[in-house]
Amino acid sequence: MPSISLAERSTPATVVILGTGGTIAGTSARPGDNVGYTAAQRSVQDLLAAVPALAAPGAPGIEAEQLAQLDSKDMDHATWLALAQRVQQLLARPEVSGVVITHGTDTLEETAWWLHSVLAAPKPVVLVAAMRPATALAADGPQNLLDAVTVAATPGVAGVLAVLAGQVFGATGLRKAHTYRTQAFTAGDGGPIAVLEEGQLRQFRAWPQGPGRALDRLPARPQDWPWVEIVSSHAGARGDGVRALLAAGVRGLVVASTGNGTVHRELEAALASAQAAGVPVWRATRCADGVLIGAAAGPAAALSPWQARVALMLSLLD
Ligand code: ASP
Repeated sequence: MPSISLAERSTPATVVILGTGGTIAGTSARPGDNVGYTAAQRSVQDLLAAVPALAAPGAPGIEAEQLAQLDSKDMDHATWLALAQRVQQLLARPEVSGVVITHGTDTLEETAWWLHSVLAAPKPVVLVAAMRPATALAADGPQNLLDAVTVAATPGVAGVLAVLAGQVFGATGLRKAHTYRTQAFTAGDGGPIAVLEEGQLRQFRAWPQGPGRALDRLPARPQDWPWVEIVSSHAGARGDGVRALLAAGVRGLVVASTGNGTVHRELEAALASAQAAGVPVWRATRCADGVLIGAAAGPAAALSPWQARVALMLSLLD
C-alpha cells in the first residue's frame, strides 16, 4: 500500500488543479461567519496561495485552471461534460500524476459518480471541497486542498476520489450526510478507502476503477442527453407527478423508495404505467445507508437516488 508524504517524494510530479467554485472558494463579509457567505468567489490561484506548503521545496509542480465558478447546487451537464473532457486531456499528459477538482459539497457525490462513470482514471482524479468558506476563522479548505494534492501526487493511486476532513472516499456510497459539520461525508457500510494523517496516506481498500465509458459516445450537446427525473415515495404519495412527467416527455425515472425498495401503492401504479409505456424505472433507496437487497436489488441498488439518475441517463445512451 502506498504511504508517502509530500516531503518524502523524490521526483516532484505535476498536479493540475481545476477550480469549479463551491464553499471552498466562498467568502463572507464577516470573518468567522460559517454560514452567511457567498460560494464561488475566490479563484483557484487564491486558494493555492492559502496553502504555503504547496510552494515549499519537495512539493509537486502545480498548474491551476479555473474551469467554472459556481455554487455546486447549480451544477449542470454542460459543466460536467467540460470537466470530464478536460480531465481526460490532462490525464493523458505523462508528467501529470493526478488532477484535483475544487468543488462545492452540495452535489459533490453526483459529480464524483459522473466522473467515475465516464472516465478511465488510471491516475487519481480527486474532488475536494470545504464546509466553511475561505474567510472562516478555522477554514477547512486549505487543509483539504493540501490533502487532495498529496493524494493526487502519490504514485499508485488511481480512480475518482473525494478528499474531505482527512478521509479519502470513492464515488460508490459517497453521500453528503451532514449540513454543517466539517466531517460532512460518509461512504456507507464500506467507509473511506483511506485516511490522511499528517500528509501520510493510510489505505484500507483498493482504489476504485470505473467502467471508463468513452466520453465521445455521449451526444456533444448536453441538451440532447435523455431527461431522467427522480420521484420519491412517501406518506400520501400520488401518481399525478409521474403522469405529468410522462406527458412532458421524461425518458427515465428513478424512484427514491422507502426502506428496501418499497413504494406507495398510488405511486407504484403510476410507475407501472410508465414502464408499460417504455419509460424505465429504477429503484434506489431514500435511506441514508445500506443497499437494496433481494427482489428490490437492481442497477441502482447501491446508488443514491441522485447518482442513480446519472446512471440511468448514461444507460439510456448505450
Ligand atoms: N452550496 C455550496 C456548494 O455546494 C456548499 C458547499 O460547497 O459546501 O457549492
